[in-house]
Amino acid sequence: MKNFNPNGISFTNDGLQTDLELIKRALDSSISGIIITDNQQPDNPIIYCNKAFENMTGYGHSEIIGHNCRFLQAKDKGQESIDVLRKAIKKGEPCMVEIRNYKKNGDLFWNELYLSTVKNSEGKISHFIGVQNDVSKRKQTDLDLIQHQETMEKKIVERTNSIKESEEYLASIIQTVKQSLVVLDKNMQILSVNKHFLQTFKVSANESEGKSFYELGNGQWNIPHLKEMLEKILPTNSQIEDLVVEHDFLHIGKKFMLINGYRIKLEGNYKDRILLVIEDVTDRMELERRKDDFLSIASHELKTPLTTVKGYMQMIQRMIPENSSDKFKSIVGKTVFYLGRLNNLINELLDVSKIQTGKLEIYRNEFDFDKMIAETVEGMQMARLNCQITVEGATKAMLSGDESHIIQVVNNLLSNGLKYSPDNDHVLIQLSRVSTFVKVSVIDNGIGISQDDQKKIFDRFFRVGEVQKIFPGMGVGLYVCAEIIKNHGGSLWVESEKGKGSNFSFTLPIEGL
Ligand code: ADP
Repeated sequence: MKNFNPNGISFTNDGLQTDLELIKRALDSSISGIIITDNQQPDNPIIYCNKAFENMTGYGHSEIIGHNCRFLQAKDKGQESIDVLRKAIKKGEPCMVEIRNYKKNGDLFWNELYLSTVKNSEGKISHFIGVQNDVSKRKQTDLDLIQHQETMEKKIVERTNSIKESEEYLASIIQTVKQSLVVLDKNMQILSVNKHFLQTFKVSANESEGKSFYELGNGQWNIPHLKEMLEKILPTNSQIEDLVVEHDFLHIGKKFMLINGYRIKLEGNYKDRILLVIEDVTDRMELERRKDDFLSIASHELKTPLTTVKGYMQMIQRMIPENSSDKFKSIVGKTVFYLGRLNNLINELLDVSKIQTGKLEIYRNEFDFDKMIAETVEGMQMARLNCQITVEGATKAMLSGDESHIIQVVNNLLSNGLKYSPDNDHVLIQLSRVSTFVKVSVIDNGIGISQDDQKKIFDRFFRVGEVQKIFPGMGVGLYVCAEIIKNHGGSLWVESEKGKGSNFSFTLPIEGL
C-alpha cells in the first residue's frame, strides 16, 4: 500500500521499502531533474522531486513539494511551448518541449522537459512525471549560431551591395574615360566596349560586342603587325605599348590611333582576356608633323645664309693684313669660332628633321676604326686644352660605315662627358672587340643620370630638368647618335649613377650591315 509523505516516499512493507529506497536513490543520483505531480489533488501539486531538480532550480525540497510547477515560469507566461504543454496535458499525451524557466535567484535556464502521464485503473491521469534537463549551454550555442548566421547574412548582403556599388562605380569610370576600351576573349571576339569606343567609331554596341575584332567595320583592325602583336599577348604574356596605326576607318575616315594592349591579369571568369586601350591621336600627330615641318624649314632657311656668312668670314680671316691689331684678329677669330658652333647646332637640327623624314643618308666607306678614334680625340683635345682624354685598348678593326657619322657620335659623347663633368676634366675612352663587334665606352666622373632619366635621354629634345639652366644644349645629340648607331646595325646605351658619373657605350658590327 502506498503512503506519500512530503520528504519523499516511504512504504510499510520492509522488502518493498528497500526496493523503493533503491529506486529513490537511483532517481536522486540521476543528472536529470525529475518531478512527479499528483493530478488527483487540487492544482496538480508536485509530490516528488529529486536532488538534480533541486540543484537545477536552486529551490529547496520544502519549497518545491506541494507547489504547482508554474512557479518555474516566473512572469514569462506567454511562451509557445507552454501552449504545447497544455494541449498535451489536456489530451493526456506525453510531450517534449524546450521551455524558458527561472531559478530561485531569477536566472533564466532552458529546460528540456519530457512530460509523461501515469493513468489509474480507470484510465484517468493520476500523475505526471516530468524529466528535465538544463540545456541552457546548448541553447546558447544554438542561439549564438543563429545570431552568427544572421550577422554573416547581414555582412554578405552588405558586401554584395558594396561589390555591386564598386562595379557600378568602375563601370561609370570606364564609361567616362576619354579613351576607347575594348575587351577581347582569347579568340579575339569582342566581349565589351565602352561608350567612348562607340562614339569614336560611330558604331552601336550590337554591331561590336560578340563580333570578331578583325571583322569589325571594313576589316579596319585587320592590320598585319597589330594582328601579330595581339596574338602574341596571351601566349607570351607580352603587351602592346604605344603602337600607332594609321588607317582609313569606316565612318570616320583616315585617322591615327595609338594602341596599348594588355592581358587582364585575373584568374577564374576573367582569365585570358585582353584589354585594348585605343586613343585617337590624329590631332597630336598632325601637330607633331607641323612641328617637324617647321623644324626642317627653319633649319634649312638658316643654314643657307649661315654657310655664306661663314664662308665670307673665313675669307676675311685669311685676308687679314699682317699689321692689323691683335684685337681685330681676335674678334675675327672668335666670330669664325661661334659661326662654327652655330653651324653645328643647325646641322644637329637638320639631322633631327632628316631622321624624322627618314632622309638621314649613310655614305659607306671603309675606314680604320682606331685611327678614326685617335684623330677625333686629338681634335677634341686641341679644342679643349685644359681637359684630358685618355684612350685605353684597341679594336684593330677596319669598319665599313659612314665615318663622318661615327665621328659625330664620338664627338657628341666626348663633349657630353666633358660638359656634364664640371668638377672633373678627365674622360676615358675604352676600345675593345666583342665577338664580331667593336665596342666603345666613353666614361666620365661627372654629374651622372638618375635611373628614370636614363630611359628618356635618347628621346629628342629631352634634357634632364636640373641641367637645363646650367649647361647649354638642345637635347638632340643623343637622339641623333642613337639613330646613327642603329642605322649601322649597332646599339647605344648608358650606365650611370647620379652624382658618380656615366658610361655611354656603343657597339658596331665589324662586317658592316
Ligand atoms: P644636350 O647635351 O644638348 O642637352 P644630349 O641629347 O646630348 O643633349 O643629351 C641629353 C641629356 O642627357 C642632356 O641634356 C643631359 O641631361 C643628359 N646627359 C647626356 N650626357 C650626359 C653625361 N655624360 N652625364 C650626365 N648627363 C648627360
